[in-house]
Amino acid sequence: METAFLYSDEFAKFDYGKTHPLKTFRLKLTYELINAYGLLSLPGTRCVEAKMAEEEDILSFHDKDYIEILRASGRGIAPPGASYFGLGPGDNPVFKGLLDWSKLVTGASLQAAGMVDSGQAAIAFNISGGLHHAMAERASGFCYVNDPVIAIMSLLKKGRRVAYVDIDAHHGDGVQEAFYGTDRVLTLSMHETGKMLFPGTGFENETGEGEGKGYSVNVPMPPYSDDELFVYAFTEVVPPLIRKFSPDVVVSQLGVDSFRSDPLTHLNYTNNGYCEVIKKIKELSPKWVALGGGGYDIANVAKAWTLAWAIMNDRKIPDAIPEDFLSSHPREGFESKRLRDDLYREESRGKEMRREEVKRVIDYIREEVFPLVGDKPKNAVNVGHTERKTL
Ligand SMILES: [Zn+2]
Repeated sequence: METAFLYSDEFAKFDYGKTHPLKTFRLKLTYELINAYGLLSLPGTRCVEAKMAEEEDILSFHDKDYIEILRASGRGIAPPGASYFGLGPGDNPVFKGLLDWSKLVTGASLQAAGMVDSGQAAIAFNISGGLHHAMAERASGFCYVNDPVIAIMSLLKKGRRVAYVDIDAHHGDGVQEAFYGTDRVLTLSMHETGKMLFPGTGFENETGEGEGKGYSVNVPMPPYSDDELFVYAFTEVVPPLIRKFSPDVVVSQLGVDSFRSDPLTHLNYTNNGYCEVIKKIKELSPKWVALGGGGYDIANVAKAWTLAWAIMNDRKIPDAIPEDFLSSHPREGFESKRLRDDLYREESRGKEMRREEVKRVIDYIREEVFPLVGDKPKNAVNVGHTERKTL
């Protein structure tokens, strides 16, 4: 099987600022750990240099005025009116090369989608992508340009049916909003409940509208949920819906800010549960565009995405992190010297309350959403369905 890993040394040159939790260095760290395991020189595996997207691609989702503000912000100084577009001190800082960063991330996601769609690769992984909060005219949650939406739109233009699976700790609100009224994209987001966490949306009753009714699926998880609840909820909801929908391509956002040690969220997953879910996504995906996402404990990020990439390539890799890597990264949080986290399973009264809440959400989705998702599009003559006229 052919796989492609999208990467550029340029990723880590962009800087959100010293105190900002999103460190682009985590991408370089991940690349180096994957490389230390020899996972970029396997037969059938390619490392592909990421290239910037064209502005026309970005305009397929974002407003022109907003792009102009991003361009004007590229010198690292906020232009007048920037705050109206969500830019400024805080979550979405203005920094040098802001538009170039967004173009590079988006370009890599488009390359991943293109390679998978054309059959050059069965799986393509863009660890810089998955910036799922960006809205058409507004930056949000560290995201300026919504690369998942733009990658999905490039597949829709070719008539593909796309399922989007988002396991970041935060709700994939920008992607949901983009496709809320269509049945051509099934969006599934599993995240910490919006009662506790940004962006405050993603409740089970957000199920789409009009022709899209039933095609937006949300599994809000209680804070402190562990691997067992994560894998349980995923297994009950995602595989049955994907099988019913029968996509041509799965696009996934594989954020790792849901882990116990992540400083920004309250979920208690480990990379053990994460790997179980990654394996399930792999089984469900006829073709797979894998994107990165959140993750603010940078050692976690590197370990989890290395494990994910090994699964994508059907490789079992040793738990002991290669010595060369450890000696060149003495201060980045690899003290355990192991790739896999300790198992963690909560046993308490709180756990039972959380289990009940997860069951309630699953029952709601079974009743309200499952009957609405079919395996054939209702509007088969939509513009863009050029290659699937028979549906
Ligand atoms: Zn997140």
